[in-house]
Amino acid sequence: MTTAPGSASGSAVGSAVGVTTIPGEPWSTGVERGADGAVRVAGVDVRALAAEHGTPAYVLDEQDLRTRARTYRRAFTEAFAEIGAGVDVYYAGKAFLSVAVARWVHEEGLRVDTASGGELAVALRAGVPGAEIGLHGNNKSDGEIAAALDAGVGRIIVDSLVEIERVADAVAARGGAPAPVMVRVTTGVHAGGHEYISTAHEDQKFGLSLAPSRGTADTVAAADDDSPAMTALLAVVARPELRLLGIHSHIGSQILDPSGFAVAARAVLALRARLAARTGVLVEEVDLGGGYGIAYLPGEVALDADRIAKEVAASVERSAAEVGTDLPRFSIEPGRAIVGPAGLTLYSVGTVKPVRLDEGRTRLYVSVDGGMSDNIRPALYGAQYHAEVVGRLSTAEPVLARVVGKHCESGDIVVHEVHLPGDVRAGDLLAVAATGAYGRSMASNYNLLTRPPVVAVREGASRVLVRRETVDDLLALDTDA
Ligand SMILES: *Cc1c(COP(=O)(O)O)cnc(C)c1O
Repeated sequence: MTTAPGSASGSAVGSAVGVTTIPGEPWSTGVERGADGAVRVAGVDVRALAAEHGTPAYVLDEQDLRTRARTYRRAFTEAFAEIGAGVDVYYAGKAFLSVAVARWVHEEGLRVDTASGGELAVALRAGVPGAEIGLHGNNKSDGEIAAALDAGVGRIIVDSLVEIERVADAVAARGGAPAPVMVRVTTGVHAGGHEYISTAHEDQKFGLSLAPSRGTADTVAAADDDSPAMTALLAVVARPELRLLGIHSHIGSQILDPSGFAVAARAVLALRARLAARTGVLVEEVDLGGGYGIAYLPGEVALDADRIAKEVAASVERSAAEVGTDLPRFSIEPGRAIVGPAGLTLYSVGTVKPVRLDEGRTRLYVSVDGGMSDNIRPALYGAQYHAEVVGRLSTAEPVLARVVGKHCESGDIVVHEVHLPGDVRAGDLLAVAATGAYGRSMASNYNLLTRPPVVAVREGASRVLVRRETVDDLLALDTDA
């Protein structure tokens, strides 16, 4: 994807100056090349970052992350104000959560979504008020439910009939105010990538289907709606220990086609109207989930927050009018779109090995000092990334390369295909763009590698948000029993 010499773009990115797409997407806004050819992030030279913090390291551009958080909040607040509705933006902490990051997004006016006791503890440690935290999960433990009730979370998103009873029983046992609950429904809309698909029945673990056994979710009358979603909503209404706050729908991740949100929202608003017709309860809130897509490769275009906010607002206004109800308050849950583009991973190049392919082609295998333990997404989803040599600007001809890790696994690929300067060599610093989301949060200790630190950069200075693991950390967990 990198512009090659002699390509049609005719930009300055030719063999005279080597291969670079910096600055610009998919890099964070603070990424630029200095006059000496080395890259800086928010004013900090990557060579200084490597010297101080070692490699591999996740580097997080604080201003970039804060700007994205603020932009989502402003775009949705403005677009929904136009239709007379309120909206809250929850940062989906599973994308990446540390105490500092929870504090940053909260300072930018976001709330925080958590999906485990660990994420909840980090959000609370950051000082996010319980009332501004949500708890998700399809298999919450008793301990997690208790922790959420202790914290007074603003909403527990329930995912099954059993869980409705478990949360209600927990509240009954401890006493106190009814717990605010949202029911997660599945609308049949699946999105991810460029298009959405819609099916009546979903073969996956999350949520409760709003497909009734007869008719379709769109046409069924309230009294005939025997969908799992309606059954769950009625179960919540029936329990005095629970307060039915709303309905929740999350349709997928890395969504680049916004129409899926509108289709799902329409189905949820119709369900809300049927529940009101049946019980008189018109729920206050509808959550439309996360999944806003970002650019991973040069030339890819992220979903634009203003555009998506306006489109979703216009479509929910139409849908509410169609079903004849007032608008609820809305919420959304972006994760990747806030933290993904703000992060990059800095590696050191080790072994470089040309591998001959068919038809005389050669691929240069460039090994780095991390791999699938710090970024599992290429192996897990075939996710594509972009990489660049960042410690210097090479004038060498670009060659076809594959960036691989150091794990005992041939699928240990970091970047499947990228053009790198032909003189890439051991000791070079290499950065992979847009790794802020689902990098550190999905990291493992495979091969007993130690997980890299998360280093924040801002205005020419760096600081460690999460320190590097050490071999002593690993040994400390091993009881040698
Ligand atoms: C994963 C998830 C999100 C965030 O998804 P992104 O693709 O990171 O925006 C939001 N809500 C729920 C329920 C999720 O599971």
